[in-house]
Amino acid sequence: MLLGEDFDLHEEHRDHNHIHSHDHHDDHHHHDNHYSDMQARVKALETLLTEKGLIEPAAIDAIVETYETKVGPRNGAHVVAKAWSNADFADWLKRDATAAIASLGFTGRQGEHMRAVFNTSETHNLVVCTLCSCYPWSVLGLPPVWYKAPAYRSRAVIDPRGVLAEFGLTLPEEKKIRVWDSTAELRYLVIPERPAGTEEMDEAALAGLVSRDAMIGTAIAGSPEALR
Ligand code: FE
Repeated sequence: MLLGEDFDLHEEHRDHNHIHSHDHHDDHHHHDNHYSDMQARVKALETLLTEKGLIEPAAIDAIVETYETKVGPRNGAHVVAKAWSNADFADWLKRDATAAIASLGFTGRQGEHMRAVFNTSETHNLVVCTLCSCYPWSVLGLPPVWYKAPAYRSRAVIDPRGVLAEFGLTLPEEKKIRVWDSTAELRYLVIPERPAGTEEMDEAALAGLVSRDAMIGTAIAGSPEALR
């Protein structure tokens, strides 16, 4: 993209480095209350840049189309199912998620530096971007609206258990919740626990149990009974 540093396009994540200073946060906070202004500003920018011949709207549409229809949570579900089925791959994913995920062909924007966090019987992982909406596009596609909402971004850290309950996920009191704050440099993929009763399932069937929310941490993997 030809957009330079001066254009404060929030989704581009070029405008900050996720240093959590107060000034910085306040600097971004005003966008939350002016989302329609932001949309208008993006539109105006696009028009201006198109008139100047700096961008090609069709190319931008193609990028959006790719992430809306071709790259989505099925990529991530494939990664999870492979990790469940193949101990060597799971180990690689733990050590170097970026390379392990790239080996399946899932690379590209917003997925350059990945870390996989594994749920266990003791610990549940939850991913947020407190500052804006950093998200692993290459494995999950575009983020859901709630992921970008100020309520989720602030409360996921302050009251993760309460947030999970609102998603319909009540975890045992003794289970720890680790909240991971995404940055422009590092994106997280939650590897849910493999559900019981799935020993006979192949990778494709296992992937069907893995929802987008399970890979953000606002859900767990589905049970095989639920598919029947
Ligand atoms: Fe962000």
